[in-house]
Amino acid sequence: MKAYLDERQRGHAPKHFMANGALSPNPEVPARVDVLKAGAEAAGCAFASPADHGLGPIAAVHSAEYLTFLRHAHERWSRIEGASEEVIPNIHPLARDGAYPASAVGQAGYHMADTGCPISAETWESVYWSAMSAVEAASAVAGGAPSAYALCRPPGHHAFADVAGGFCFVNNSAVAAQALRRTAARVAILDVDLHHGNGTQGIFYARPDVLTVSIHADPVRFYPFFWGHADERGEGPGLGYNLNLPLPRKSADAPFLEALNAALRRIRAFAPDAIVVALGLDAHESDPFGGLSVTTPGFALVAEAIARLHLPTVIVQEGGYLSEELSTNLTSFLTGFGGAHRQ
Ligand SMILES: [Zn+2]
Repeated sequence: MKAYLDERQRGHAPKHFMANGALSPNPEVPARVDVLKAGAEAAGCAFASPADHGLGPIAAVHSAEYLTFLRHAHERWSRIEGASEEVIPNIHPLARDGAYPASAVGQAGYHMADTGCPISAETWESVYWSAMSAVEAASAVAGGAPSAYALCRPPGHHAFADVAGGFCFVNNSAVAAQALRRTAARVAILDVDLHHGNGTQGIFYARPDVLTVSIHADPVRFYPFFWGHADERGEGPGLGYNLNLPLPRKSADAPFLEALNAALRRIRAFAPDAIVVALGLDAHESDPFGGLSVTTPGFALVAEAIARLHLPTVIVQEGGYLSEELSTNLTSFLTGFGGAHRQ
């Protein structure tokens, strides 16, 4: 399978985030790149660097205001006397339809949902190239490749059109889906990350041309808390084009695969021309987030079921944090996918 990664994706190295009120080491570390790359190579992936597709494919799903903020936030923040090394918000609007703040502090609160997405001097470059990896994978598939893998790091699925959150800045899966829309009339996004793909849902919530489906730990007691519930079905012309399949904490392979079957039934009924898999590996039983209990062989079963859709497929890396099995889990998924997709 073709695979894409740019070395500039390593620069972003967030130091902290707040977990249960405590300042904790940020788990979305550059070392994930090496572990995931090794896992993909073990599954036969050959990596190439993406071309520079420019800001257009990113601006197609994110607001101009937000992208300007992301590009310049750190530089502006650094001019504030006594400011922290990384941009971290400390105040948020309760409603988003009021005045747009002029200060970097106000804009950080406006554009950042939580403390999980600190911005450093290196962040924009890494985020940009992570998105380029997604665009390149989408271009390869649009050009006739049966599938492609984008090692997107930083990840993207918690990023809304104008809000960062949960380690995510630019929504790589949404960027890939929108890029595919140039040649595909309908695109499905299937998110199998442990956490609900709230940003992806938000971006396409009112659209019937991109179906969003997410399987995740029930947000009633889990991040992102305010999204991911089964009654969120889309709005306006997009009503019925969002499907959330929340699972009880610690659910293992059998309930995950059952939810996947429901997801695949909806996707088949939607009859998409292409699919984006938002591939989080943090649903694994040994992931530090500990939300679900999918096994390593379970990821192969998940991949095989998705592959049997026999659709042009862009696989976009989302979460999955350092553990003994992270690399093997990606190998398991990509090997399972490749075997079943060729049949
Ligand atoms: Zn996740």
